Amino acid sequence: MKHYVVILFALIAFSCKKEVKEKTGNEKLKVVSTTSQVTDLVKELAGDLVELEGLMGAGVDPHLYKASEGDVTKFYNADVIFYSGLHLEGKLEDVFEKMRHNGKKTISVSDAIAKEALISSVDFASSYDPHFWFSTTHWKNATTYVANQLSILDPKNKKVYAENAKTYIEKLDQLENNNAVQLEGLPVEKRILVTAHDAFAYFGKVYDFKVMSLQGLSTATEAGVQDVQRISDFIITHDIKAIFIESSVPVRTVEALQAAVRSKDHEVAIGGTLYSDALGNPGTLEGTYIGMYEYNMKTIVNALK
Ligand SMILES: [Zn+2]
Repeated sequence: MKHYVVILFALIAFSCKKEVKEKTGNEKLKVVSTTSQVTDLVKELAGDLVELEGLMGAGVDPHLYKASEGDVTKFYNADVIFYSGLHLEGKLEDVFEKMRHNGKKTISVSDAIAKEALISSVDFASSYDPHFWFSTTHWKNATTYVANQLSILDPKNKKVYAENAKTYIEKLDQLENNNAVQLEGLPVEKRILVTAHDAFAYFGKVYDFKVMSLQGLSTATEAGVQDVQRISDFIITHDIKAIFIESSVPVRTVEALQAAVRSKDHEVAIGGTLYSDALGNPGTLEGTYIGMYEYNMKTIVNALK
């Protein structure tokens, strides 16, 4: 009889333990992501498998973004924080540091890229240009990296993450093909991209564009009068047809540049809005990474050809 009670007790204990374990096993991984590019990537890889909270929406500048109290609560409640990194989210670094100190898992997506494959910049806080997503090769590496990290954190869905990564990389291959086709319409001598801030160096490197910008790698530095004069002279000398505004940067610097060109009896058009550090609104073409890239490419080629 005594024996029986012990076994029964052990069985109850075992079944209770099992129940708790199963509940945990069915719970979704709670993910917080920063930029809309990173949010889009996690969405592509995880779909409904995770509870995803993206902090920065359309038009939000990650260089200037500060964490609200609500954001800090979201960070605390998350199992993992995915961020772009290389000091892109410069004003969140301290918060991330605090989170790590408290044992929170934070993952910089830029860790996917070998340092020697990044564009170095002595002036910038991280020593590297943080706009690496404009290299589709880098974005493919980011895809594999994020899928692997999700698999480590949520091993029961490992197979799905791997399959989704494979499918997404195939879509990125297709994007590269489409980009090449689009660019056939734009001769190399016309590939000069003038924008508000220095977000397109990786793009320029891949697609043979000379890139110029009014502000530096971060929008935290304002454009100087000398920059406006220097670039307006360059536009006139090279007879550049169009310059571009960016969805996450105020339009005034680019308008000031256009005015400077006009004051010298020359005309330059505003070629449209490019999506640099933020994607467009959800549900639109430019609301996904791939759509954003297609939209930018079409806008650039149409305005400069
Ligand atoms: Zn930027």
